[in-house]
Amino acid sequence: MNTLVVCSHCEKINRVPLDKAASVQPICAGCKSKLPLHDGVQDVSDTGLAKLIRTADQPVVVDFWAEWCGPCKAFAPTFTATAKALGGQFIFAKLNTEQFPSASQAHQIRSIPTLIVFKNGVELDRQSGAMPQAMFMQYLARWKA
Ligand SMILES: [Zn+2]
Repeated sequence: MNTLVVCSHCEKINRVPLDKAASVQPICAGCKSKLPLHDGVQDVSDTGLAKLIRTADQPVVVDFWAEWCGPCKAFAPTFTATAKALGGQFIFAKLNTEQFPSASQAHQIRSIPTLIVFKNGVELDRQSGAMPQAMFMQYLARWKA
């Protein structure tokens, strides 16, 4: 199973095997920087996210979050566990709304955490607020490729 990861340094899109990435930190084929992928979840920038959702051949699930947001931090382990379960079917990304306010403006994020599912560059759906893993898995099942 592969996932696509945008390099945070040169913004090249890398195809990364998830099983290998679990033991070895993947590096960018373009600039050799470490790719921002942790436990099957990647950190994206505003421009990186735009590129990822345009390019991805799978649905992209994005968690818009911030460091100061308690519910976001509480939801993080659920997001990671779900990425482990469904990696290869969805691309899991997190966007820090404090670091990249232009992305939260572009996607009209009014509260966090907000989860958005993108497919072929368009938003399919969004959910505001955290949810338990079983509910999150059920929710995502509707948007499977
Ligand atoms: Zn790179």
